[in-house]
Amino acid sequence: MNFKGFELIYTEDRCDIKHKDEIENKLKGVIGKENVSSEQIDLLAYTRDASLIGMNWAMEDKIAALPHIITWPENEFQISDILKIANEEKVPVIPFAEGSGVVGGAIPIRGGIIIDMKKLSNIIEINDTDLTVTAQAGINGMNLETYLNKKGYTAGHIPQSLYTSSLGGWIAHRAAGQFSTKYGKIEEIVIGMRVVLPLGEIIEFKPIPGASTGPQLNKLFFGGEGTLGIVTKATLKIWPSPSKRTFISYAFPTIEDSFTATRKILREHIFPAVIRIYDNFETSRHFPNVELSKDKVMVVFVCEGNSELVDLEESFTRKICVDNKGIDCGIHPVEHWMESRFRVTETSSMPPYKIVFDTIEVASLWENAANIYHSVLEKANELPGMLMITAHVSHFYPNGVGIYFSFGGVPPKDKSDFVFYQECWNTIIKAVIDAGGSIAHHHGIGITRSHWMINEWGKGLETLKEIKKVLDPNNILNPGKIYEETWKTGEI
Ligand SMILES: Cc1cc2nc3c(=O)[nH]c(=O)nc-3n(C[C@H](O)[C@H](O)[C@H](O)COP(=O)(O)OP(=O)(O)OC[C@H]3O[C@@H](n4cnc5c(N)ncnc54)[C@H](O)[C@@H]3O)c2cc1C
Repeated sequence: MNFKGFELIYTEDRCDIKHKDEIENKLKGVIGKENVSSEQIDLLAYTRDASLIGMNWAMEDKIAALPHIITWPENEFQISDILKIANEEKVPVIPFAEGSGVVGGAIPIRGGIIIDMKKLSNIIEINDTDLTVTAQAGINGMNLETYLNKKGYTAGHIPQSLYTSSLGGWIAHRAAGQFSTKYGKIEEIVIGMRVVLPLGEIIEFKPIPGASTGPQLNKLFFGGEGTLGIVTKATLKIWPSPSKRTFISYAFPTIEDSFTATRKILREHIFPAVIRIYDNFETSRHFPNVELSKDKVMVVFVCEGNSELVDLEESFTRKICVDNKGIDCGIHPVEHWMESRFRVTETSSMPPYKIVFDTIEVASLWENAANIYHSVLEKANELPGMLMITAHVSHFYPNGVGIYFSFGGVPPKDKSDFVFYQECWNTIIKAVIDAGGSIAHHHGIGITRSHWMINEWGKGLETLKEIKKVLDPNNILNPGKIYEETWKTGEI
């Protein structure tokens, strides 16, 4: 199918909207004509998310998918009205926030109506007694955190995509920020929210620090990826801005040594805000001038908070690193990381050279972590066309870690970019599953991982599908994601 010379990647099951003008007029009637468009230039702006293969496609005049109508509702009642119309007309609806998702979650693979969340971006209130902030879900991450910082607080949620992602998108994918080892993932930070369900009802989970009020239904919407409801507002925990921040770095002989040291730190109930382990490949890429880390595994730490506690955390961290073969590399590697942590030009530099590049984050208990790391490198390196596979570990728990792989390769002559991309993904995910890991830590499922959900969930996946059917009987909300195998290449 062509749209002004572009080739569409996802064409299967695309909905055929017969009376688009009528639907558009109905939408204009409920949310205003200034908030609805089907102009080609607007449709083109919503054809992709930040999945890296999208950049390769863009270089070849390919687009992932095409919506039919774009809407910019101004409040949750308008979202509810849009969903009611979509149910009457059996048209897909795709919540779209900042489009920084990397697993195809916001791509309108069946066409339909985009609900752009950006007009729901107000901060409602900070409550200093409760240490909470309440904001609309379309708020940009950087706007929220900057506002908090100016008032003397932080939410502690600082993903690399802070400048280009939203509160609702974080909840939808169960995001993790760079400081998650201290402050937690978004599901540990958000304590209340409002959601518009697929049929248009609006429900509220009131903010509460802990409760025993029946099942935690709100958990359904963490990681719901816009398939079970649209989050319109959330209340988050906040903290007073840290009075002290300390930078520490140590190089270790092997990845196993770095795992031992960091695991022992967490066992002491010490939570540096940031811990990042770089394997020896990434260490030489990111810290080429640090002689002491040559051929080693760099670990950077940031401890922050109350100054006396930070001093204590620092002394424990240093002692455990030294006792476990760590070599002190000073503060410069951490300063370098702090300065460069939002730079993402590496990824966009690849497509012009026909390199297919991506990152895959997975989760593991400590016991399997080293095995997963080595298995993934071994299996990925066996794949014809693979040029590089490296890893860092950036999210830490007393019980395990989130491991982040980066790969790049050039498809062999008989394979398209997309087929090669899928092979890379499947090879890495299979190695993770075989070694006892979990398939996603914070980027979500979307399209890219949905065919692996059965490995993760087993029979539970049927229950999840039943819940989806009950909430969304017409399957209008973000179809083709999580529960449906849009990539049909997942055979193990
Ligand atoms: C350079 C880069 C760095 C990144 N770094 C990190 C990182 O450090 N940590 C991390 O966790 N992720 C990271 N990501 C991934 C990405 O930023 C997250 O997945 C983010 O949570 C998506 O937010 P968004 O607002 O852009 O959502 P979108 O991409 O617009 O949407 C993502 C999904 O959420 C759904 N959705 C959006 N808003 C709502 C809502 N209000 N209610 C219900 N569903 C909704 C959409 O339908 C879609 O399925 C990074 C991405 C990039 C490109």
